[in-house]
Amino acid sequence: MAHARESAPGECCGLLFGDGEVVDRLVRGRNVHAMPETRYEIDPAQLREAIAGTDDTDRYLVGIYHSHPRTEPKPSDFDIANARWPAQVYVLTSLRSEPPEVFAYRITDGKAPKIPIVET
Ligand SMILES: [Zn+2]
Repeated sequence: MAHARESAPGECCGLLFGDGEVVDRLVRGRNVHAMPETRYEIDPAQLREAIAGTDDTDRYLVGIYHSHPRTEPKPSDFDIANARWPAQVYVLTSLRSEPPEVFAYRITDGKAPKIPIVET
């Protein structure tokens, strides 16, 4: 959330690591997309490093997060078309309201059903 605020008006993005569906580590990503105000692309080198860096632990990449500074926290057509990361869960936060909304989605076959977020 802090990352989303610092990155506005651009979108922020990052990686969520954990075990199964429990996230316990967040790695901030660099948004390298040419239009960071409405789209995101995590620096591919950073993504590879982050994934390689988890080899010696029992942590896995379980999700990707990014922010929508001005629009609803729902995957855009671009987000759905580009959901090719080796991750299960896409977390989206929107700064259009206070406190920011946060939702999680699974993106498969062009569909993005919302899934519940459970805070532990
Ligand atoms: Zn998006």
